[in-house]
Amino acid sequence: MQKKKTKYIFITGGVVSSLGKGIVGSSVGVLLKSQGLKVTLQKFDPYLNQDPGTMSPYQHGEVFVTDDGTETDLDLGHYERFVDQEMSHVNNVTSGMIFWDVLNKERRGEYLGNTVQIIPHITNEIKERITLAKKDDDFDVIITEIGGTVGDIESLPFLEAIRQFQFENRDDCIHIHVTLVPYLRTSGEFKTKPTQHSVKDLREIGIHSDVIVCRTEKPLSQATKNKIALFCDVRPEEVITAIDAASIYEVPLLLEEENLDKIVLNKFGLVKKQNILPEWNEYVKSINNPDNPSVKIALVGKYTSLSDSYLSVTEALKHAGAANNCNIELEWVSAEDIENGKVSDFLKDANGILIPGGFGDRGIQGKINAAQYARENDIPYLGLCLGMHIAVIEFARHVLKLEDAHSSEIKSDAKNPVIDLLPEQKELINTGGTMRLGSYPCKVKPGTKLEEAYKTNLINERHRHRYEFNNVYREKFEENGLVFSGTSEDNRLIEVIEIPAQSWFVACQFHPEFKSRPTKAHPLFKDFVAASKKIKCSEP
Ligand code: GLN
Repeated sequence: MQKKKTKYIFITGGVVSSLGKGIVGSSVGVLLKSQGLKVTLQKFDPYLNQDPGTMSPYQHGEVFVTDDGTETDLDLGHYERFVDQEMSHVNNVTSGMIFWDVLNKERRGEYLGNTVQIIPHITNEIKERITLAKKDDDFDVIITEIGGTVGDIESLPFLEAIRQFQFENRDDCIHIHVTLVPYLRTSGEFKTKPTQHSVKDLREIGIHSDVIVCRTEKPLSQATKNKIALFCDVRPEEVITAIDAASIYEVPLLLEEENLDKIVLNKFGLVKKQNILPEWNEYVKSINNPDNPSVKIALVGKYTSLSDSYLSVTEALKHAGAANNCNIELEWVSAEDIENGKVSDFLKDANGILIPGGFGDRGIQGKINAAQYARENDIPYLGLCLGMHIAVIEFARHVLKLEDAHSSEIKSDAKNPVIDLLPEQKELINTGGTMRLGSYPCKVKPGTKLEEAYKTNLINERHRHRYEFNNVYREKFEENGLVFSGTSEDNRLIEVIEIPAQSWFVACQFHPEFKSRPTKAHPLFKDFVAASKKIKCSEP
């Protein structure tokens, strides 16, 4: 049998950053998957960091972690959530990785005395990565998103590489250019000039855009589409309106209405067989239901002005809201604001309290106050990674009366380090060793909230941490009513804690948010929201 030929879609962005290329790529992924095609996505980021693991959430938003423990760009979270397909180290490539590999090859003498140059050595390395995802799996379509904006100096090697790639795979590549078409209210008109210029920039590099996806705040008029078509050398129907949507999950439906799926399929010589998967439609309907009650979840974090910092958490909450027929009203509470009292001012209306992952000591006392408020007022609590450490410290201080209990991440000389490094990790840290990353199994204790949620006794979840529950204190906690409902298979690491005396108080060492999907809400988030909804619905 002849091996099927993989098709390639390249997504570039013009005019401004943050246009949602990741959402457009993911939506194309959903639409093609609905046709029975096997699709994967990848992100090529032009920055020089090897990965975003060390970058501040202020600059780069959340660090998404894959099963194989790769720290990646947050767009990989969108890819996984939209196409429901696990990503790995091959799906996120940075300039830093490319240069690192080329320079190492140079040191090993692999270039046999040649002058090492951007073209062909860097571009060859990039081209190899375009097809790398294919090695593990036989995909029908690989969608590659090029980070940054056309015109950036640093993305030039990537654009040159995809130009060469298309030259070598002529009939198997298409280019989708995502751009901004601003609407000027004062004159009541759309402005197409920025789009014309970014398409022209791409053309100069040798890339012809096959489809122009225009981000706009109002539907584009036919005259505007015609004008963009004329200047950008595409047919009017290949100018797609991507209007601002209330939910990112509506975007595949909006793009389907604009026939983007048909256009892409036709360019590959395929025909559209069916509409988008019915479960996607169902999900979108369920999130837009105004009859659903609103459940207020307080997210107590460090970066409250930047929702991208906790992107997978907020998405997982939305999925869980839909699964529970309720709308999530997210309340961002800055941990620093509740460090010195006033906790109830901020949390009294919360139906559920969530403390996400984090690093460093800023706002820690505020988070401890929030966990105490949740426990003392029996408000459902979900703690994720650092959120588990916080729950442990709070319990140690106020129930076990270990007033100086702390995490040695925050206070290295704590007298009662209830959260600490394992002895073998200490060695590693001293030699620059780093985090426990990726998927690990966890045993589930029967008869717990954890078992109730997962309905199984062995789970796998993703991790990104250094510090752990300190086993020296295990018995003391158990004697005082805390249950260790999840542990590593060898029982050495605490993975999940819960307080059975509370209506719902669960905190985990792992990050369940990375595995939630719109049509498959994560069991822990689902039960947390269900418990919060119960509180809401029992209010007088
Ligand atoms: N800072 C903590 C640790 O390194 C928690 C990490 C996290 O929340 N992702 O263990």
